Amino acid sequence: MSHNIDNNNNSNPDQDQYGVLLYYKYAIIPDLDSLLAFYESNCNSLGLLGRVRLAPHGVNVTVGGELSSLESHIDAVKAISLFEGTDFKLASSHHPLNDKVAHECGFTSLSVRIVKELVTLSSHPLLNPPDISNAGRHLSAVEFHSLLQSAGKLLDEESPTDDKELVLLDARNLYETRIGKFHTPSMETLDPSIRQYSDLPSWIDENAEQLRGKHILMYCTGGIRCEMASAYVRSKGAGFENVFQLYGGIQRYLEQYPDGGFFKGKNFVFDHRISVGSSDENILGSCLLCGSFFDDYSSRCRCTHCRMLVLVCDSCRMEGAVYVCELCQKHSKGVGLLPSTEDGKIEVASPRFELKTVNSDPSVSPQPIWRHGNEYPRKLRILCLHGFRQNASGFKGKTASLAKKLKNIAELVFIDAPHELSFIYQPSDASSPLQSCPPPLSENCRKKHAWLVAPDSSRSTEIDWKMADGPFDPLQYQQQTDGFDVSLSFLKTVFSQQGPFDGILGFSQGAAMAASICALQERLKGELDFRFGILCSGYALPSTEFQPGSINCPSLHIFGSDLGKDRQIANQASRDLAMAFENGCSAIIEHDCGHIIPTRSPYIDDIKGFLQRFL
Ligand SMILES: [Zn+2]
Ligand SMILES: [Zn+2]
Repeated sequence: MSHNIDNNNNSNPDQDQYGVLLYYKYAIIPDLDSLLAFYESNCNSLGLLGRVRLAPHGVNVTVGGELSSLESHIDAVKAISLFEGTDFKLASSHHPLNDKVAHECGFTSLSVRIVKELVTLSSHPLLNPPDISNAGRHLSAVEFHSLLQSAGKLLDEESPTDDKELVLLDARNLYETRIGKFHTPSMETLDPSIRQYSDLPSWIDENAEQLRGKHILMYCTGGIRCEMASAYVRSKGAGFENVFQLYGGIQRYLEQYPDGGFFKGKNFVFDHRISVGSSDENILGSCLLCGSFFDDYSSRCRCTHCRMLVLVCDSCRMEGAVYVCELCQKHSKGVGLLPSTEDGKIEVASPRFELKTVNSDPSVSPQPIWRHGNEYPRKLRILCLHGFRQNASGFKGKTASLAKKLKNIAELVFIDAPHELSFIYQPSDASSPLQSCPPPLSENCRKKHAWLVAPDSSRSTEIDWKMADGPFDPLQYQQQTDGFDVSLSFLKTVFSQQGPFDGILGFSQGAAMAASICALQERLKGELDFRFGILCSGYALPSTEFQPGSINCPSLHIFGSDLGKDRQIANQASRDLAMAFENGCSAIIEHDCGHIIPTRSPYIDDIKGFLQRFL
């Protein structure tokens, strides 16, 4: 089953009605909220679908819709002075044909969101993003082309005296350069072969000597990634001044040179068109398995280990197969196709737990974190956060059966939450004099801890007893709102001292804490790196309100069904939390076992199925 999408196919008159619009603009945005309101109302009224990202220093937009609506949108945006000089890239296309692709591209809904950065160049928290105003000089498609034509000649304006060598630097990811890149016989094209944009700075650092003293011509799909990346190269100082970027990216270049010019193959795009070619039909890509020429990503095959897109031709594709990308092969993760077997050696998760990499553009959305040097197979390390008034050893005991059932694939690590609680006792009626005063502390009386505490609770670390306030209040957890910052910085320490961890598992209040960390994942990159969250009997912290679909972190939600009699956390609270995670990268297990983590079949198989994706 292949939807071979021909991007230049305008044979069906209906198809001319639909289009895709891309643009970005770096500018200081004085009022993000009102711009957000503008986008929401404008895009909704015009029926546009896709992604709008607003940051304090600019916007990045990928939307699809009727061509006439997209034109109205452009007119409305142009009327805002902030957008002066914006390059609107509007292309007619067919309607999204493939639901899966449309979903991955975010073309099944409209998502307008305020983010910290438009593109995430660095995952190091200590590294400030480079100053965009220091970006490389823009070259038009024609200027870029003529430079390639006259490769070797010097760029007079920038360097009047010495004859500098030119190098081409592709700022995109491996799966993009696989199917198309600039090539000229007289000039080297540096292809970093990275999985994601945030790997680019390290590549640049490691290959600085190849770039030093040269004229560096950078390019990417539409230009936005080069803005930041060229500024990064230039920030390296002497010897890195002469950086140029193709304005409007490959997209504008192909419009200028419909025969492809010096660009060979196809331009990978992050919307439902998948890729855009030229009149030159040469295929650069090849099937991962048989090596035949192939460049169609519409089947969305991904590397089983790192989730990067791979090319697998129609005849090699197999339901449930394990694919290993070039980069994982290099790091000895096994080679080629390993068919799924019935003897259980290679388990492939059931399709409903397939994790889609949600957002199309990896420069915008985080991809799974990759660590080098991990041999396969290995165990996932999962940091476990206990519930309110619990502790590491108590939680470890309660999850012993889970740990046992997962022992071949996961190692569970337990820690005490940083807030120590007073001991509590329930005074009983006077007929039992033995219980009218606090029981004596014994050796096995361990301190209880919490991630969040009620604002009025004493923070005393003394071991003391406190009388219960009253009968058990099922909504008590909503009063525990204080202490998040302490818990967050505590977790940073845990990650740096006991990490790395592949995922976080939280139970009840621990799940509320874990969910907040998932929501902050992008901001905490480098300090709290993990690839997935498992939220059991979770709820959103009372102080936070997550927009539906706003948390972009692969997640598994395990909670009691309506009939599950989880008296602590209501089904709806856990369900609401699950809905806050971006659709398409979250999985839900509802069970009928109450306020626990179920370990019997079929639940345990579903949990394993989820975890298999990260092995
Ligand atoms: Zn093949
Ligand atoms: Zn891989």
